[in-house]
Amino acid sequence: GLRRREVNVLVVGLDNSGKSTLLNHFKSEDSKSSEIVPTIGFNVEKFQNKNVGFTAFDMSGQGRYRSLWEHYYRDCQGIIFVIDSSDKLRFVVAKDELDTLLQHPDIANRRIPVLFFANKMDVKEAMSAVKISAALGLDRISNKPWHICASNAITGEGLQEGVEWLTGQIW
Ligand code: GDP
Repeated sequence: GLRRREVNVLVVGLDNSGKSTLLNHFKSEDSKSSEIVPTIGFNVEKFQNKNVGFTAFDMSGQGRYRSLWEHYYRDCQGIIFVIDSSDKLRFVVAKDELDTLLQHPDIANRRIPVLFFANKMDVKEAMSAVKISAALGLDRISNKPWHICASNAITGEGLQEGVEWLTGQIW
């Protein structure tokens, strides 16, 4: 019979952007979650939902653990980049991390779909997805399909649209 394809999706963004809250919506009853907390202090969350494996981590810590998290780039078939739309102070940090990610040798020349969640859309001072897209310079991404959705990870609003886009790109 047909064999189900196993895929790995990376979920990245700065700390506090909403990754864990968002991931809770992607966990099924039988999803096995494992929190790996190595002595070095770099946290990775991994779980499997059907044939999709999710690997999530914070892009923070002044790049101290960069080589550890970059090790996950090679095996991913999709990327979810989560942005706190209300965190104007750290927006430039998020942009720097995105640029560094897109330039990485294990990412740069691959046609990996990138889904952006402009999260915390419910916060009054949140920037719109259109503004975020312009500020991140997403139209410069020429060799990867990308999509941006405003989301509220608490209520789950916007998540379905994003995930449908991403799965449509991977399969
Ligand atoms: P992580 O560090 O990226 O995993 O972020 P968390 O998922 O832990 O979320 C950080 C904080 O932001 C928590 O207090 C969440 O409840 C809150 N949060 C996450 N998503 C949203 C959202 O869409 N709207 C609002 N208002 N708060 C959110």
